[in-house]
Amino acid sequence: MRFDAWDEYFDYDKWMDVFEKCDIDPSFYANRRMGYDEILPWDVIDIGVSKKFLVSESKKAYESVTTPNCKEKCSGCGANKLGGDVTWCPKMK
Ligand code: SF4
Repeated sequence: MRFDAWDEYFDYDKWMDVFEKCDIDPSFYANRRMGYDEILPWDVIDIGVSKKFLVSESKKAYESVTTPNCKEKCSGCGANKLGGDVTWCPKMK
């Protein structure tokens, strides 16, 4: 399955075959709404933004509620806690 992200190498049937051999239901991962209390595959990625903030943003999105632009008001996402050059965060400048 080398370079399978490229259309000319991607083979859907091979993926389905591997899922079946490994007893994995791809729909469990790709076609359902995940709970906020679940451990998600991308939870290991830490860019400072807290899961609590992301959950709050998700709930607000479903209610069509927007968050102020960072240049207008900090909403306390947590991105500024890592330090370094976080170019999108006005609190880091
Ligand atoms: S100003 Fe920085 S810390 Fe505040 S919400 Fe924006 S990115 Fe996050």
